[in-house]
Amino acid sequence: MPDHRREVPRTDAVLADPRLGPHVQRLGRALVKAAILREQQAVREGRREPGDLVAEVVAALPESVSSLLPVVNATGVLLHTNLGRAVLSPAAVAGIAAAAGTTDVEFDLTTGERARRGRGAMAALAQAVPAAQAVHVVNNGAAALVLAATALAGGGGEIVISRGEMVEIGDGFRLPDLMASTGARLREVGTTNRTTLADYAGAVGPDTAMVLKVHPSNFVLTGFTAGVGVSELARLGPPVLVDIGSGLLAPHPLLPDEPDAASALRAGAALVSASGDKLLGGPQAGLLLGSAQVVERLRRHPLARALRVDKLTLAALEATLLGPTVPVIASLTASVSGLRRRAEQLARLLSADGADARAVECVAAVGGGGAPGVELPSAAVSLPASYARQLRLGRPAVVGRLEHGRCLLDLRAVAEADDQLLLQAVRSLLPEPAP
Ligand SMILES: *Cc1c(COP(=O)(O)O)cnc(C)c1O
Repeated sequence: MPDHRREVPRTDAVLADPRLGPHVQRLGRALVKAAILREQQAVREGRREPGDLVAEVVAALPESVSSLLPVVNATGVLLHTNLGRAVLSPAAVAGIAAAAGTTDVEFDLTTGERARRGRGAMAALAQAVPAAQAVHVVNNGAAALVLAATALAGGGGEIVISRGEMVEIGDGFRLPDLMASTGARLREVGTTNRTTLADYAGAVGPDTAMVLKVHPSNFVLTGFTAGVGVSELARLGPPVLVDIGSGLLAPHPLLPDEPDAASALRAGAALVSASGDKLLGGPQAGLLLGSAQVVERLRRHPLARALRVDKLTLAALEATLLGPTVPVIASLTASVSGLRRRAEQLARLLSADGADARAVECVAAVGGGGAPGVELPSAAVSLPASYARQLRLGRPAVVGRLEHGRCLLDLRAVAEADDQLLLQAVRSLLPEPAP
């Protein structure tokens, strides 16, 4: 075996090569150096010929400093928590880019004095839900609940909640545990499947700080069930907090069973909490909307400072609220005939290249803790199951789903502009045609 050790150029010499200059600028010295060390090691161990090391390093450099990789979401789940939930609109992305530098997030350029933080986003949210007297924004939906429970019921106050709404959000996070962590006491009423107004009325008393109504956003209860509406709860006296989860600000015709902020407030909720990155289609955020007095109490609580959102979130949220239709709503409302046409086109092109590809009808879902049980008719390109893993490992990564032993690339959550990416991703896996 030849000894390549002496033929490996020194790290400093490689790093000084002018071909690496732009990459050091882009990625930083540490990442480029790490790539050099890996390539040197490969040569030393005889895994690589000692050719042009700089060229090898350039080829092996990561595309970006962030290790997060872009993914084409062909799962058919519109809001996939593991894939980052909502895709931001171009307007929101532009807002983030603009806010990334120094910005007037908390400064009045007219007077030269401090101003209310994120007033643009707050005004946009208030304008989107006129039924809310006041609004506040924190880091996520869970933070919104924690802030509300702490400010309204922390230190032993009682929160009345139905046993049918003691839900687990996901990854082991249980809403009752979250509430209890604030020091509030949970007073459970009713049963898993049925809770009546009398159950609530029997529990509400002088110690009740609030009544909490949680939308079971990731499961449906059917059969012998009963729940109590917001308007009835509101008449009991204590403030009612409605956790709608998904962030629909007003009713959506395609999701008739999904609660929305405007309806809950009109029904008498003192406070509504929701996520920003579910059906609202914006950045991760926790929205709080409600009576001026309650929202002010939350805003003034010391914990509010620990949960406050950054300038990027505020910029993206404002653009989401004021800008054009967001991707999640575009996906939700895309016509199934359009999806079918796209699937057929892709399948035709791939079959012509020799792939075992065909267009199929399928069913997509909202996912991400929204509209459970809602089936969205969709269309997909069906491929052999073995493609699933290879597509995941491609760049960009494509994540489909396995169904009946086939890999489906469901188009409902894929922007039409990304069909080209899907096409290239699958083509890159096909054997080269014989010359
Ligand atoms: C998603 C969800 C939450 C948690 O919101 P995050 O933004 O993920 O923190 C809380 N309650 C309900 C009902 C939800 O659907």
